[in-house]
This record gives sequence, C-alpha cells and structure tokens, in this order.
Amino acid sequence: MTNKRDYYDILGIQRSASEEEVRKAFRRLALEYHPDRNESADAEGRFKEINEAYQALSDPEKRAAYNRFGHAGVSANGGSRGFEGVDTFGGFGDIFDAFFGGFERRARSEPRPGRDMEAGLTIAFEEAVLGTRQEVEISRVEVCERCKGNRAEPGTAVKECPTCRGRGEVRRSQQSLFGHFVQIAACPTCAGEGRVASQPCGRCRGSGQERRTRKIPVAVPAGVEDGMRIRLDGEGEAGSPGAPAGDLFLVIHVKEHRLFRRDGEHLLFELPINFAQAALGDTVEVPTLQGKTTLTIPAGAQSGALLRIKGEGVPHLQAKGRGDLLVTLRVVTPQSLDPEARRLLEELARRLEAVDGDDGDKRWFERIKGAFSGGQP
Ligand SMILES: [Zn+2]
Ligand SMILES: [Zn+2]
Repeated sequence: MTNKRDYYDILGIQRSASEEEVRKAFRRLALEYHPDRNESADAEGRFKEINEAYQALSDPEKRAAYNRFGHAGVSANGGSRGFEGVDTFGGFGDIFDAFFGGFERRARSEPRPGRDMEAGLTIAFEEAVLGTRQEVEISRVEVCERCKGNRAEPGTAVKECPTCRGRGEVRRSQQSLFGHFVQIAACPTCAGEGRVASQPCGRCRGSGQERRTRKIPVAVPAGVEDGMRIRLDGEGEAGSPGAPAGDLFLVIHVKEHRLFRRDGEHLLFELPINFAQAALGDTVEVPTLQGKTTLTIPAGAQSGALLRIKGEGVPHLQAKGRGDLLVTLRVVTPQSLDPEARRLLEELARRLEAVDGDDGDKRWFERIKGAFSGGQP
C-alpha cells in the first residue's frame, strides 16, 4: 500500500475541525483543483485526494473510524453506506454526490429520487408479539427549508449557468495510455443543474439540501420477527426537486424473553413439574404473554411431553388468528428429601417393583435386562 497522506493535512484543517469547517475546506480546495479549472498536471490527482479526504471526514462514522484506525478504518471496502473509492476515470459524479448531497451524472432534466436509508430498531419480545408504536431517530438529508431546494436565497434570481450554458455537463478531452477520449462530466459550477443561484441560499449554502435529525413514528405490527425489515415509504433522504424521497428500512431486533421463546407463530414455554404431578396429573396456572391461564396436566405425563394451549401464541402477521402456546413438561427430580418424603418414596419404590409399568415400558425393560445378560434382545 502506498503511503497515503493524512486526510486532515490534505484538507488543511485541524483534527478538531467542525463539520462546517470540513465542508468549507473541501469546497475551497475542490474549486481550486477541479481539473476543469486547474491546468496543472497534478490537479486531477489532488482533486481525487481532496475528495477522498472529504468523503471520509464529512461522515461522522467514517471520521471516527479514521481517527481511531487511520486509513485502514475507512478503506473503500469498509462497508459504510455511500462510500466508494474514486475510480480512475469519470469519478466526478461521486465527487459532486459527496459535495452537493446527492447528485449523479445523468441528464439534468431527469429528477433524481432520494436515497433509501436503513436503521435498526430494538424492541422487547412482547412488543414483537403484540405490536407496538415507537419512534426512531434518524439523521437524513432533506430539502432545505429556506430555499425549498432551489439553492437561491429567497427573492433572488436563479439564472442559466454561465459555465455550461444550461446544459448541466461539460466535455473535456483527455489523453490517456489508451488514447484520446472525451469525458463528459457534471458541470462543476452548477453541479449539473444547468442553473445557478445569483445569491446562494444562506441556510444550505446553495446545496438545496440540509441534514436534519427527525423522530419518525413507526407502527410495528404484531407478529414481527427478529431480522424483519419494515419499509417506511418516503422517509428516506430527499431527492432532487420534483423527485420522490427514498424509503426508510427499519431492521427489527427482538430482545430475548425471560420465560418464552418463539417458533414462528407459536410461543414455547417449559414448565417444571414434580414426579407426583406427572404421575397423578394436576391443574396448574401457567403464564401467558399477557397474563395467565390454567393448564391440565394429564395423569401419567412424561417428561418432555408437549401440551398445547390454543390461541395464546403469536398473532399472524398478514391474517386473522394466533398461534398456540406450546408447553413442554419437564419432570424435576428432587435433590434433597426430608425423612418423611424419603420414607414415602422408598415405600413407593417397593410398590412400583411389584406393579410393572405398562406394556411398552415392560418390553423396554426386558430388552435392557436381555442386553445385560447377553441374551438376544
Ligand atoms: Zn437553501
Ligand atoms: Zn453549469
């Protein structure tokens, strides 16, 4: 890997620089070194370097990663949304994308929809089963409130861009190893809009967009599962004027429950019972997600038996009805006995030897005996 220059040095700013200072430094340097304006041989290289530094330092997450891990923290395949290394040729769309908050090289008459966003939402187990209303806080790019996205200070004129004469793009010929070719790039003056503000909006500094933190209300439907995504139409980032906003995708994370687990539409619960309850049967109270209900344990229940309580499970996501509560019986053997209990159990043991188990058990016990005595099972 080549020795890369420090991003802060590239932009000529302090490590403590504010977001605004990062932006200002980038704007100044980008205009100075844009290859369309700067004839010097290293202008394109410098321009890419400036862009890369800006992409890293203008994003709080990437900036934090860079501060901790240096260049390794913000490598092009680092996975952060929207961060791409600048390719060798024709990377200027990316540059202006970063600079003006969402511009792509394409015909300027085509409005560009806003980007989709993704956020996580952690909810309790009960909330996933029963549904909930929540708010998620996100920071997103919106249309500037002051200029309504047209980039001009209210009351001032928007005129045809003098650089591209309203075309939104500039052509320049370039000599490369592979020969001579013409590159079409976004107009650096108007960012491809074809029009420029005579006086840029004071709130968004002429970008037409601003970043805002919003609390978005979310109705989480009953029955969602961990990892599901909820789509909120139009709650993503703003598009260019006249284009729709992107969508917001919420990835649901469901916390574990103390008592219940989940298997699709069914709730699972393990009920400890003692040997007497298993043998004699019993009626007990069991918890449900919203309260409690009674459960009848049949006489002779085995450990591991599954009992079903209808309709106490998870509501179906797209339909009426609910799943069931599935109760697994777990027969717990006592680990300490008082003398009376011990006496009773010993008596019971003698009694059980005299009365054989049912036929199935009997055959099984016979087989085991046969195995010990070397006989054929
Ligand atoms: Zn504005
Ligand atoms: Zn222009």
